[in-house]
Amino acid sequence: MISAPSGSGKSTLVNQMRSLVGNLDFSISYTTRAPRGSETDGREYHFISRDKFEDMVQEGEFLEHAEVFGNYYGTCRGSLAHAFTEGKDLLLDIDVQGASQVRSRMPDAVSIFIMPPSPDILATRLRNRSRAEGSVQDEVIARRLANARREIENYREYGYILVNDVLDRAVEEMAAIVVAERLSRNHGAVSEEDKELIAKAESCRQRNSEARIRPVLQAFGVVNAEAAPV
Ligand code: 5GP
Repeated sequence: MISAPSGSGKSTLVNQMRSLVGNLDFSISYTTRAPRGSETDGREYHFISRDKFEDMVQEGEFLEHAEVFGNYYGTCRGSLAHAFTEGKDLLLDIDVQGASQVRSRMPDAVSIFIMPPSPDILATRLRNRSRAEGSVQDEVIARRLANARREIENYREYGYILVNDVLDRAVEEMAAIVVAERLSRNHGAVSEEDKELIAKAESCRQRNSEARIRPVLQAFGVVNAEAAPV
């Protein structure tokens, strides 16, 4: 499971990581929000009506679902079953509420939280994205920043934390986490190269990331400068 505030560069990071690591399926969520820009039904999302979404909830078709920015989003159980039969791992791009639901149903699920480096950089990315979509509304940017802060407050629920300041590094770290988690479940022989990947993944565990994420938390006002250790 990968969660990140809107504008953290999550899609780019995940796409690049998938070019490094094989056997990964990407779960295409269902949503009631309208397609944006070049988004196509069945590629980025399955775009459905609220009525259809509510029917699917009633039928128990979702592994998790949540309301985000006024729209429903959900992960269909079928995606997981399909990945399982293909012998692949399934990547979920879901918000903190969805991740929490999956965690309670599947305690072994791996979760990664991506932090933007600072509120200033996030604001610039959000503005650039809005500009590309045709309009920059300061109140929308402000709302997304406030929302990012609320999401970041939940970072402790995640097993791994990545700070997306240098894209290549974050891509390598995410790839290392996937490989290291597979190795730990397979209990097979571990090569020297694997050991390096395991060490890299370990450095991203939440409990080992304190020094790295502290300035980010401070910049977002999630902890203040004088606060006790994270
Ligand atoms: P966007 O509309 O910008 O594509 O996504 C908005 C938010 O919804 C993001 O935080 C994204 O991770 C989250 N999201 C996308 N799909 C799902 C889903 O299936 N379940 C949940 N809980 N959140 C999702």
